[in-house]
Amino acid sequence: MFEKILIANRGEIALRIQRACRELGIHTVVVHSEADTEAKYVRLADESVCIGPAPAAASYLNIPAIISAAEVTDAEAIHPGYGFLSENADFAEKVEASGFVFIGPHPENIRLMGDKVNAKQAMIKAGVPVVPGSEGALPEQGAETVKIARKVGYPVIIKAAGGGGGRGMRVVHTEAALLNAVNLTRQEALAAFGNGTVYMEKFLENPRHIEIQVFADEHKNAVYLGERDCSMQRRHQKIIEEAPAPELTPKQRERIGERCAEACRKIGYRGAGTFEFLYENGEFYFIEMNTRLQVEHPVTEMITGLDLVQLQIRVANGEKLPFRQKDIELRGHAIECRINAEDPYRFTPSPGRITSYHPPGGPGIRVDTHVYAGYTVPPNYDSMVGKVIAYGATREQAIGRMRIALSEMAVEGIQTNIPLHLELLHDLRFMRGGTSIHYLEQKLAEETKQKKK
Ligand code: ADP
Repeated sequence: MFEKILIANRGEIALRIQRACRELGIHTVVVHSEADTEAKYVRLADESVCIGPAPAAASYLNIPAIISAAEVTDAEAIHPGYGFLSENADFAEKVEASGFVFIGPHPENIRLMGDKVNAKQAMIKAGVPVVPGSEGALPEQGAETVKIARKVGYPVIIKAAGGGGGRGMRVVHTEAALLNAVNLTRQEALAAFGNGTVYMEKFLENPRHIEIQVFADEHKNAVYLGERDCSMQRRHQKIIEEAPAPELTPKQRERIGERCAEACRKIGYRGAGTFEFLYENGEFYFIEMNTRLQVEHPVTEMITGLDLVQLQIRVANGEKLPFRQKDIELRGHAIECRINAEDPYRFTPSPGRITSYHPPGGPGIRVDTHVYAGYTVPPNYDSMVGKVIAYGATREQAIGRMRIALSEMAVEGIQTNIPLHLELLHDLRFMRGGTSIHYLEQKLAEETKQKKK
């Protein structure tokens, strides 16, 4: 096993990875920006290295600084967490070229899935169903694009091949608006992702977001670890996730899960991965594959009893998966609420000093966060400051426990979205389960209308 791992990330996930390492007896190096020097999780690590000033471009995205930190501390492997460099194939390549192990997939798999147009084509080849749309990238000629849209049928969604994090997408309802939307998305994509390639999909009006967690080793073994329903979203960003997905049958799970595991074997995938699908009228449509650990991995851990971060480390170390598909049993139900430092209704970020902090507890409650009373949430990064996960024998029990947990939880000094979560946990449609990806925005729009009356 590795003796020392460098964690190239920050916040709750840096702490989560650190805990997995400690349990395995591995020493940890945490790299951090000047904005995170005082954070307790940085102090908890065996070693820490400051790699630059607060802006991510100068620190958490600074590849030479991270590799130098691994060199000076004699780390053997690098865990990228999620976000930042986790899906950057050049980074993975440089890590390996510098003689370190990258705790993630092979760079060529990251590169393939990082271009959503290529990813979709690879999935079609592997027999995975995809959202109907343009076959590949949209051409430069407007007339061709108009033809494609007519064939796909309105509404359509224009998406950036290099997009991520819910950015680089535009819905188009009419032919009159089409070409302008394509050009705008192209320009934005070029500015944000350095890649102006865009493609078109049918915009599904009532789908759910259901994703399959997969795991593969270097020895041609690949399994699926069930699914997660992440339909509760705002601006294409998930806020509540759960596993299993309400109403999905074991037969449906097995069918789509097997396809994903088989796709992993076909492309020679290694490590943790997630196949994201839109699910409508009983059918799955692939949208993208994430070649990393997901924010919402804890709900899968709760219902499988596995530690996905430890598994990532073991697989990166060349070990075989310690189980087969038939050994995997899904038990109970888990829900995760992402706690964001933001205004719960206007959604403006709310960084600053946390003056008092009371975490929830009790049966089935897990809190993954790096914050504490006196911690200052820096304004430089994502607004997510932690996750509360509730586990129960049934979905009802998990929801009940989550309600109690969030009603106990107190975070003062900054605003959080806990009030919004509490409202959703009492929402009749959510309680029934199976809401679509548009549900939350429709509900919020409805409430704004009511308030104006
Ligand atoms: P990202 O990489 O930015 O997360 P995705 O392709 O995974 O982008 O899409 C993110 C979200 O956008 C989905 O969960 C869904 O809510 C919405 N979305 C994407 N494609 C479609 C589509 N064809 N129809 C309807 N909604 C879509």
